[in-house]
Amino acid sequence: MDSFRGVRTAVIVGAGVAGLTAATALARGGWQVEIAELGPSAATSGWGLCLTGPSLRALDELGLADACLAEGYGMSTITHVDVDGEPAGEVELPRLIGARRPAMAGIARPVLHRVLHAEAERCGVVVRYGVTAVAVDQEGELVRVRLSDGTDRRVALLVGADGIRSSTRGLLGLEASLGFHGQMVWRALVPRPSWATGIHQFAGKAHTAGLVPLSSEQAYVFLTENGVERSVLPDAELAPRLRDLLDTFPGRVEEIRSLVSASESVVRRPVHTALLEGVWNRGNAVVIGDAAHAPAPQMASGAALAIEDGLVLAQEVGRHESVGAGLQAFVSRRAPRCRTLVETSVAIIGLEQARRHQEAYPLADACHRLMAEPA
Ligand SMILES: Cc1cc2nc3c(=O)[nH]c(=O)nc-3n(C[C@H](O)[C@H](O)[C@H](O)COP(=O)(O)OP(=O)(O)OC[C@H]3O[C@@H](n4cnc5c(N)ncnc54)[C@H](O)[C@@H]3O)c2cc1C
Repeated sequence: MDSFRGVRTAVIVGAGVAGLTAATALARGGWQVEIAELGPSAATSGWGLCLTGPSLRALDELGLADACLAEGYGMSTITHVDVDGEPAGEVELPRLIGARRPAMAGIARPVLHRVLHAEAERCGVVVRYGVTAVAVDQEGELVRVRLSDGTDRRVALLVGADGIRSSTRGLLGLEASLGFHGQMVWRALVPRPSWATGIHQFAGKAHTAGLVPLSSEQAYVFLTENGVERSVLPDAELAPRLRDLLDTFPGRVEEIRSLVSASESVVRRPVHTALLEGVWNRGNAVVIGDAAHAPAPQMASGAALAIEDGLVLAQEVGRHESVGAGLQAFVSRRAPRCRTLVETSVAIIGLEQARRHQEAYPLADACHRLMAEPA
């Protein structure tokens, strides 16, 4: 029989950022880990994301920061530009993995996924695709997990890392408040302009926009559209609509706008946040990452929280006598930080909607400083 004091076995639901890092960290601590991923393969979608200092620090603990920096784009500054196209300040972010390495990195999502996936498999983690958990019961010290292929597992730990719409959260009866805040976010993959050596954020009269380098060749343009309902546009309308929205910005955005004209990779998604109101676990089952706390993209820190969750989870179940005690310690260590980040991201949305950008920047900077504290 699997038991905590014997073989440490875990099932993780979801092979995203949180699931893969938790799997690697647990496997390195001697756990046998299996991931049930609903998607059909190791591929992931989406253009890119920014790995902030806390992300890089957590990846460095796993020995993966240099691989991400080698394939991504290391940078250390955020340049704010005001509604008239004039510089409104440059923030130099703290270099959390040493003065010789950059403060953050832009990286294509499939590249990050490949790095995390390869390491998990190297550590012996088994990833099964097209499978999910359909029932969960605590049986003494073990969790019985029924998978959608009809098989059962009895494991010491179940981790729900299945994203903002987590079904594991539902199976555990945990309540999350999910919010839509009247914003749609746009992304377009473009060639990196030579001046884009850090993140640029442009305040607009109605919306906000920006540019994040992903490699020496590529960058992504983002635009956050304010005061809109959730809606879906036909693919053919996406690039022309994004160009129209960027037309309202002065200065350098004009150049970005012309790059979008040539981009065939424009996506538009609603901005959602999620936060678990109470505990994150039931017995020996817990949810982590976006399943527990999904901030809005404005703080560029959802992946940081997800990676930290994976590391801290492995640390706490490793240092406690029982999984239950480890999970309690994990949640007490993580919940305040994750709540602050989600709530700050929602406050920033409010300020953006009210066109009070100058108040949003210090709020974001203060929250980045808080996130720079150890996880
Ligand atoms: C537009 C946008 C931009 C962002 N930009 C940034 C950024 O720049 N920096 C940053 O740090 N963060 C950013 N984020 C946030 C970041 O993407 C998330 O916080 C992070 O991906 C969360 O990781 P996760 O593993 O918890 O969830 P996910 O990445 O969503 O992974 C969940 C995994 O679970 C799988 N899954 C889903 N349902 C099931 C199921 N029922 N059974 C099994 N598997 C399932 C999915 O297929 C997926 O593989 C951004 C988010 C958005 C929406």
